[in-house]
Amino acid sequence: MEKIILIKYGELSTKKGNRNFFIKTLKDEVNRKLSTLPCEIMSDFSRMSITCKDEDLNKVLDKLNTIFGIHAYHIAYKIASNQEEIEKKVLEVMSEEKFSTFKIETNRRDKSFPISSMDFSRRLGGIILKNIEGVKVDVHHPDVLCSVEIYSQEAYIYTNQHKGLGGYPIGTQPKALLMLSGGIDSPVAGYLAMKRGIKIEAVYFEAIPHTSMEARNKVIELSRKLARYTNKINLHIVPFTELQEEIYKKSDPAYGITIMRRMMYRIMDKLCQKYKAKAIINGESIGQVASQTLVSMNVINEVTNLPVIRPLACFDKLEIMEIARKIDTYNTSILPYEDCCTIFVPKHPVIHPELEVAKKIEKEIDYETLIQKAIDNTFTIVVHEEAENIYSDLL
Ligand code: ATP
Ligand code: MG
Repeated sequence: MEKIILIKYGELSTKKGNRNFFIKTLKDEVNRKLSTLPCEIMSDFSRMSITCKDEDLNKVLDKLNTIFGIHAYHIAYKIASNQEEIEKKVLEVMSEEKFSTFKIETNRRDKSFPISSMDFSRRLGGIILKNIEGVKVDVHHPDVLCSVEIYSQEAYIYTNQHKGLGGYPIGTQPKALLMLSGGIDSPVAGYLAMKRGIKIEAVYFEAIPHTSMEARNKVIELSRKLARYTNKINLHIVPFTELQEEIYKKSDPAYGITIMRRMMYRIMDKLCQKYKAKAIINGESIGQVASQTLVSMNVINEVTNLPVIRPLACFDKLEIMEIARKIDTYNTSILPYEDCCTIFVPKHPVIHPELEVAKKIEKEIDYETLIQKAIDNTFTIVVHEEAENIYSDLL
């Protein structure tokens, strides 16, 4: 008797034209994640099943819980598609459950099975009522729901349902670049973007010596946490010191952050071209700080035509923190190392900046040259979930 993990595609199966592509991407992802564990993976248009040894079950489940595109899964018994065997097994499975009300739900995927789904559910229900004392049927709110799925060769029986991460498998959308600071918000934004199937690479603006190696290591650690949900994250580190110092020399302090963020967006735009990424993702949340009012966003966004995806735009900080804890980035994010934004932050940043004022200040800065220099000196660290980092200069 085999116990197997049965994955339902959920939302994926509503993608009519793209369905095969979504399922194939999910299967590749499951194959890759489980490649070090001995198990057998099978899939068709309606479900995926994974057979593994009992002792590996928890390890397999741990991996499955990091894969987007899995909405729910069941740990099921797999038996032959044979009426008597199914009846015997359903009774055996239900005898191990503690309940006073129950429901049997049969799904006859193979119509050559001789009894209709409804009739078979009734028949199985009758067997339970006859053999297990003190229980009754409740079709609306049963304590235990026993599902029976019948295919031509095999049948699955299960009484549990586990929630998966949901979303779409990574790779069903093209690449985008995540602005990853050491804060609480941006790793959560990255997680939510990946959940939509977007493949992400991260970009960190650093201002050594104003920021420390500890701050960089924190961003590497956050990338590693995000890499759990994919296989690796390319982290591009942009040396931002010169540009930032120039900004603060030349601008009205109130506009410092506005100009700095316009420069960041310009660099992001160029990096997106370079790495063939289709969007910029960041952790901005409307109204959170002066640079994230709608007026600020307008002025800052003006330098790029790329979509800027802000997964947290309408989230409260508490909601963001809750996700950060769930994905285990929170404790790393709250480590106290300074960021290039916080170090230069003025006392009274402008809340409603004017585009013309920003442009006038920028005329005094030779930013094209400094931006090119920053891009030329950008280097990349490939961050894996577990393995050592591979430092590589991709330029
Ligand atoms: P977080 O928003 O991640 O908690 P933060 O609050 O320090 O960090 P903000 O000042 O709110 O960052 O900046 C808004 C967004 O801009 C960040 O969520 C991040 O996406 C991006 N960002 C800020 N600083 C940097 C940086 N040094 N490198 C890369 N991206 C950055
Ligand atoms: Mg923030």
